[in-house]
Amino acid sequence: SLQGKTAIITGSNSGIGLGIAHEMARAGASVVINSFTDSDEDHALAKSIAEEHGVEARYIKADMSKPDECRALVETAGRCDILINNAGIQHVAPIDQFPTEKWDAIIAINLSSAFHTTAAALPKMRAAGWGRIVNIASAHGLTASPYKSAYIAAKHGIVGLTKTAALETAQEPITANAICPGYVLTPLVEAQIPDTMKEYDMDRETVIKEVMLKRQPSKEFATVEQLGGTAVFLCSDAAAQITGTTISVDGGWTAL
Ligand code: NAD
Repeated sequence: SLQGKTAIITGSNSGIGLGIAHEMARAGASVVINSFTDSDEDHALAKSIAEEHGVEARYIKADMSKPDECRALVETAGRCDILINNAGIQHVAPIDQFPTEKWDAIIAINLSSAFHTTAAALPKMRAAGWGRIVNIASAHGLTASPYKSAYIAAKHGIVGLTKTAALETAQEPITANAICPGYVLTPLVEAQIPDTMKEYDMDRETVIKEVMLKRQPSKEFATVEQLGGTAVFLCSDAAAQITGTTISVDGGWTAL
């Protein structure tokens, strides 16, 4: 059980982050959910997690594209036993047409935010004598596809950051690992469908079957519940010697 632990999940008002928040809460952790929006819906989500699982759940606003806000999220949360770096965005375009501001935003949100939150969280984990860092990378942290240069660079980068954090904490009761999901049908993936349809000149169903799940041999999307369960496993005693590695939840994609 994760009772007595506080889990901060960045970018968790939707998709995988929200799924992980639910599984952390189901395992007994207090949870902090986050986004940059600070809407009534965000606060209502925290309330519903608290009610559903009988744990403390709070929403804290922080824009993960801003270094100071990344660090402030961890400070405001108070405890940070479990840090899940999940916030992420995508943009699909060939390199020679890739907008500079999209490149910068993706590197900031998908990669640099994890550096800043980790830097703020490590002293708290050391003081508590226990810590778990789980970075949500991607199959695109291990392999590439065309038109996703910034995302793939950021995801390969976060795998490297994970390994470094693991080595710096290797002799402490702290671990750092990355989960590499294949395709999960979340709002982020839903939003890529129109661009990918244009890029490949295909209809929606063909894009899902022939492009997205082409490299996912199971021919099924992974689910947010499965990713939450994997994150909970990485926080369990059984995973205490698992550090500095990646766990693929990709239906066989990276076995190809
Ligand atoms: P999503 O769009 O549903 O969720 C993204 C989350 O990030 C949202 O909660 C959003 O509020 C938050 N976010 C975006 N910009 C932010 C900012 N500036 N500050 C704070 N929060 C911000 O997408 P998702 O599919 O759930 O993606 C979550 C993570 O999983 C991402 O890192 C993504 O790269 C990764 N991932 C997703 C898939 C997939 O198939 N869906 C596959 C591999 C990896």
